[in-house]
Amino acid sequence: MGYYIDGPAKGKAVFIKGKYGADIISTPAVFNVPAGKALICVVDNGPFEAAAYCFNVREFKAFSDHADPRPKKWLLMDRSKAEELTGYVSPEPEADKGPDMAEFLDEASEALLGRTLSSSLIDNICVSCGKPAGEFNDALSKKEYGISGLCQKCQDIVFGH
Ligand SMILES: [Zn+2]
Repeated sequence: MGYYIDGPAKGKAVFIKGKYGADIISTPAVFNVPAGKALICVVDNGPFEAAAYCFNVREFKAFSDHADPRPKKWLLMDRSKAEELTGYVSPEPEADKGPDMAEFLDEASEALLGRTLSSSLIDNICVSCGKPAGEFNDALSKKEYGISGLCQKCQDIVFGH
């Protein structure tokens, strides 16, 4: 953890706003950063402030921990400028594919197929046809089963092999 923007020890939010055209925003409730923008959290450590680039939802959660009493200011600024200043290079845009995605897949598969993806994976059956997952042609198909819950036969139908 830790990609930071340099600046004066105190007054970093105002400094970044003035120098790089950032907008000071109210504390965000969720990690929802507009395209091309970067979310910066200025944390007041007492003698000095740190301006951290919250480049993904994990960083954001780390800085928005309500148990942390340090005063914070939040800024939105140009993403490429933030990455130039912090040295952080973003990989593919990172979405929060945590429990929500699993929940969504379970709900969708239960509605469509009458069984959940997670229960199918635990039972080692195919989420689509309900038969034992059985053998796979290759490692990729086996990996695909872990994602979609489809047996080899159903994968062949879905992906048109
Ligand atoms: Zn199947």
